[in-house]
Amino acid sequence: MDRRRFISTTAKGSIAVSLGIHLVACKSKSRIMKNTPIAICTWAFSKANEAAGKALESGMNALDAAIAGVAVEEENLKNTTVGKGGAPDREGNVTLDACVMDHNGNCGAVVCVEGYTNVAAIAKQVMLQTPHVMLAGEGAQEFAEKQGFKKEQLLTESSENAYREWLKTENYKPIINIENHDTIGMLCMDDNGDIAGACSTSGLSYKMKGRVGDSPIIGAGLFVDNEVGGAAATGMGEEIMKSLGSFLIVELMRNGMSPQAACEEAVLRTVRKNPDHKDFQVAYIAMNKQGETGSYCIHQGFAMMEYREGNNRQISSTSYLND
Ligand code: ASP
Repeated sequence: MDRRRFISTTAKGSIAVSLGIHLVACKSKSRIMKNTPIAICTWAFSKANEAAGKALESGMNALDAAIAGVAVEEENLKNTTVGKGGAPDREGNVTLDACVMDHNGNCGAVVCVEGYTNVAAIAKQVMLQTPHVMLAGEGAQEFAEKQGFKKEQLLTESSENAYREWLKTENYKPIINIENHDTIGMLCMDDNGDIAGACSTSGLSYKMKGRVGDSPIIGAGLFVDNEVGGAAATGMGEEIMKSLGSFLIVELMRNGMSPQAACEEAVLRTVRKNPDHKDFQVAYIAMNKQGETGSYCIHQGFAMMEYREGNNRQISSTSYLND
């Protein structure tokens, strides 16, 4: 298996396999699909979800479609919580986290990566080209360079200006809710009926140096079991990590819950254990093997995107609090 072959030498061109495949796949439109492909993602990341949905309809596999989808937000300079243009940590450095999981249960992750935009694609290469699941910081960056990923300045003029503004008060408090701009967690079902996912973030704005949240942690920010379904999270990473929310949702679905009921139960676990739950947001999306989907969150304002049969629609999530 590829994963067992640890390749320490340069493998330029591997990015084209993970990202460029999108272009190739989009050319073949008239295929007979065995299953209806579905893409869902956190927040109103409409373009990202549409890109994934269309890629799936063109025959791309679930993992590559999810990576191509999240890449849209990683490359969106206006998105201040994912990829290039993401808010920096309190020292002014943009550090990114991501993970991917495929339909065979293989997974890869990178944490605290500086200077590389497409961290979900790098996570895929960790999965494929190393015997490991997670690479951090400098090691992940050296690996990305050897894999041929392009080094870039991730701090944009506007994110630097916002950071300088923040420095005036250095007010560090976890975000309760941000509409339409946050971590992107994506789940895709391809025309084989296989489910895979990707999750990518710059984490909490102005976070402590070295802080890593749930997003790159398999089981917390993302989990997929192709026999059952998948789940992804956004919101206060520390709380999501305490309950391994995405893993929990998949296990609840395995035991018979619908994606909606499983998302609700996962949020309730956090709510019940944490009297301070009014002070932060936790939100989940989920999809099962039958293509049913669901989402739930603590605070109002969360939405997910769902692409199905050419239709990309935003679905407002129900919430625990009606604030
Ligand atoms: N879950 C992310 C983190 O804690 C942030 C977010 O989704 O807003 O890093």
